[in-house]
Amino acid sequence: MILDGKQTAQTIRCELREQISEITKRGLRAPKLAIIIVGHNPASETYVANKMKACAEVGVEAERIAFESDVTEQQLIQEVQRLNTDPMVDGFIVQLPLPEHINESAVLSAIDFHKDVDGLTPANVGRTVQGLPSIVSATPRGIRELLARYAIRTEGKHVVVIGRSNIVGKPIAMLLMQRPYLSLPGMSAASLGDATVTICHSKTRDLASICRTADIIIVAAGCPKLLTADMVKEGVTVIDVGINRIDDPASPRGYRLVGDVDFEQVAPKAAYITPVPGGVGPMTIVSLLQNTLQAYTASMNQQQSA
Ligand code: NDP
Repeated sequence: MILDGKQTAQTIRCELREQISEITKRGLRAPKLAIIIVGHNPASETYVANKMKACAEVGVEAERIAFESDVTEQQLIQEVQRLNTDPMVDGFIVQLPLPEHINESAVLSAIDFHKDVDGLTPANVGRTVQGLPSIVSATPRGIRELLARYAIRTEGKHVVVIGRSNIVGKPIAMLLMQRPYLSLPGMSAASLGDATVTICHSKTRDLASICRTADIIIVAAGCPKLLTADMVKEGVTVIDVGINRIDDPASPRGYRLVGDVDFEQVAPKAAYITPVPGGVGPMTIVSLLQNTLQAYTASMNQQQSA
């Protein structure tokens, strides 16, 4: 069965639109997301445009803050500090990657974790690890939500995560191994977590044997056709996070997007599998909107109790 991220994200966008319309009908302002973009990386421009569009669709106010690629690290951090204290901005993100002369970690660490709707600050990651209320980064949140919406339980299952990045591999592994007390607003926690998780990376020996023991495989490596049919058991669930451009003269753009899974060969053996495009990608964007609403609600609750 195909795990349809596009359709699921559309359903969640409708739910968000309704929740935000309820808020504004009560005379309150809409949630606001700011997006910092540096330079003119075409992929980043596209991602930011898609995020702005998604905000407009659900009624989140969005502001794009652009800097030229010669901006200094200090100037960027100053902007982050300004947004940290702007009461009209509920959450903001810094679109990655940043130019090489800027230390990404220094910029991300400057973000107030309450407004860190990408969930990438050390504070949010640490809180997630400890099972405290936190903002979970968008892609892992989207994967978790997709599993929940298709009622795929993880309790007691062996999950193999291929990739150990800070934005995908590590946080999704952490979320799925947690006790299910780590509930996210608007999400059922009951069926998620409690998995036995193995994290693999480029130095892992005999990846194929490890994968063959998995009930669920999450691939976030950035390598087309890394996961092949001989590496999976019958009935596996496969979540393909990879987004890779491969040349395709037949396509008007000259390329097409593929994931990290040999979809044609693996799909017949899988109980559930995400396509690329149309799987994890749309879930990532909608998770950013959910995180923004989460930050807005937390800030409003705090103002009311102050
Ligand atoms: P990174 O490059 O930061 O991490 C890739 C990870 O995969 C590393 O841990 C690396 O190991 C591991 N890896 C690479 N090759 C192999 C291999 N042959 N065998 C086993 N492990 C391997 O990537 P990201 O996590 O940022 O992204 C991964 C993919 O997901 C990319 O294609 C990216 O475009 C996509 N992505 C998609 C999103 C979405 O919304 N759908 C969101 C974010 C990313 P090592 O650590 O040893 O180098």
